[in-house]
This record gives sequence, C-alpha cells and structure tokens, in this order.
Amino acid sequence: MTANDTELMESTNIYVDCIVNNLPVSPTFMDTLKAQLEADSVCSRVMKMCADGWPDHAQQEPLLKHFWPEQATLTVQDGLLLKDTRLVIPAAMRNDVLDRLHEGHQGVVKCKARARQTVWWPGLGHQITEMVLKCRTCLQERRNHSEPLMPSDCPEHPWQKLGADLFELGGKTYLLVVDYLSRYVELALLTHTKCNDVINHLKSMFARHGIPEVLMSDNGPQFSGQAFDSFASAYGFKHLTSSPKFPQSNGEAERAVQTIKGLLKKATDPYMALLAYRATPLQNGYSPAQLLMGRRLRTTVPTHSSELQPALPDRSTLFQKEREKRTSDAANFNRRHRSKPLSSLQVRRCG
Ligand SMILES: [Zn+2]
Repeated sequence: MTANDTELMESTNIYVDCIVNNLPVSPTFMDTLKAQLEADSVCSRVMKMCADGWPDHAQQEPLLKHFWPEQATLTVQDGLLLKDTRLVIPAAMRNDVLDRLHEGHQGVVKCKARARQTVWWPGLGHQITEMVLKCRTCLQERRNHSEPLMPSDCPEHPWQKLGADLFELGGKTYLLVVDYLSRYVELALLTHTKCNDVINHLKSMFARHGIPEVLMSDNGPQFSGQAFDSFASAYGFKHLTSSPKFPQSNGEAERAVQTIKGLLKKATDPYMALLAYRATPLQNGYSPAQLLMGRRLRTTVPTHSSELQPALPDRSTLFQKEREKRTSDAANFNRRHRSKPLSSLQVRRCG
C-alpha cells in the first residue's frame, strides 16, 4: 500500500462505503430465514393460517395467541412472513438478530427504533430492553445518548447548514461534520491537525454531498486564517464561528461529538458503529441517512428489500415533529443554562 493509499484509507467515509457494499450478511440470509421459518413450528403454522384463515382456537394457544392480534398485518410473500414490511424472525434466529440490532451499542430506544423499521416477533421490545440493560459493554460505558438537536432556525433542506468540530479519541484527532437537518455525521481521521488537512477532508465531503450554504465551527486555528477564508470564498459558502463568550452556538457539532465519541468508545468496529448511527431513526422517526439521501442504508439487520427503495420523508410530519422537539429542548436548555436570547454568532466571511 502506498502512502497515498494509506491516506485515502484513513478516511472513515471510505471505510463506511466499503462496509455498506460488503456487509458480512451473506446473500443467503434470506434463504436461511425462509428455511428456518419453515422449520419453526409456530411460524410455519402462522404462515399456513395467513393463507387458510385463522381458526378461533388459535386465540387460546399459548404459542399462537401473540400472533392473533396481529393477523390483519401479517402476510406471506415469497416464502417470507411479514408483519407490514417487517420480517418476522423465527425463534432460532432471534438472538442473532438481537445482536445485529444492538450493533454500535446504541440504547434501548434506538434499538427499538431500528427494529420497528426491520424485524418483528412477539416480545421483541421486552427482549431488546433486557439485552441492552444486560450488555456488559454498555454497562462499562453507560452514557447519555442524547441525539444532536435540530436548532431553532431549522434548515429548509438537507446539507444546507453544517457544524464542524475536532475531537480526540485514543490519541487520534478526528474532524466531525454534522448536517443540521438530517444529523448525518461525516468523520475523518486527521493525519495532522493543520488547516489544509481539514480543508481537504471538507472538500471530499462536499464532493460527496454538495457544498453547504453555511458551515459553523469554533474559532480553532484549523478553521481560521487566510487558507480557510479562501476556501470558503472559492467554494461559495458562509463560514460562521461561535464566539468564545457563547460557545453553545456550535452546540450542534459539540453534541454530535459527544454522541459519536460515546459510540466509538464502545465499538469493536468503529465503522459499523457509525453505520448504525446513520441508519437508526431519530426521534422524528427518520434515520440520518433517510433524511439526507432519501433511502435506508443496508446494515447487518435483516431488512426486506422493499424497505431499501428510495423514499422521501414526509416533510410536513417531519417539521411538525421537529417543531415539538425543538420547543421542549429549548425549554430544557434554557432551564439548565438560564440562557437569555442573545445573538451569539459573528460572521467571519461571506463567500
Ligand atoms: Zn451494548
């Protein structure tokens, strides 16, 4: 591997692309699932009832009664048992799927949100809670996984306004960029924390997702100076920096740093953790990937192919949910910080 290759490979984004394309889920997962559904005495009976109708005695049988209330949403398609578009997983495969849902060691709420988009079986929610509360890695690294907030001036479209910040973990320095609307996070490992390194990684991200209108950062040396100003001017984005007196104005990036650091600390495979974050629904019901790219990412959690078709989030629902969350978050923030409304930003340079 040449030095150039090494530098390229150090970009987390490239690793993530590799992971998305080469997930360790064998293409035969669906075949295994079909065979296990057939072998599972309960699932095979449910599938038969989907075709032949539900006899009343099924309501009383201990193993079938949990499927009974769901009969309107259960269907059989191409040898798979579906509850709406969620794959019904037979007992023999449930532990494996639970592990996949917990990939990245996210909390109970996030694991349940992943499950709601992908898989189902009776008692799944309870089992997720049990698993996460007993997970040894999570016990060692119990953290508050508050997700990055959408700020009060909600952007109109994805990748319009970004926050950038640097952080250190395990002796390495990373550049983190978060999109204010989707909360999609890009990460890059910095080989040296010079301004040019940061600029090159930002250019790489802009080549992938487009140029934002606004980039927020702190006043750190990597974000100031002639080189950064020229970059902003040449690419045509506005660079805003938080003032030292009001550091919370870059709160979006700082909050994302806390979330991502928490995930990376627990991760055996940091790229899988990043993928899990990007693929997990936020409180508004959509994952960062859905909000930025209009599609779900394929992960190790088994997902019906219909769920991977591009689909744009419903804007009015999204903005309604975000408005509600924003109001309550702002109230919490103000209570904690006793903050007064102040203009907290200075314009560095309008490109
Ligand atoms: Zn865990």
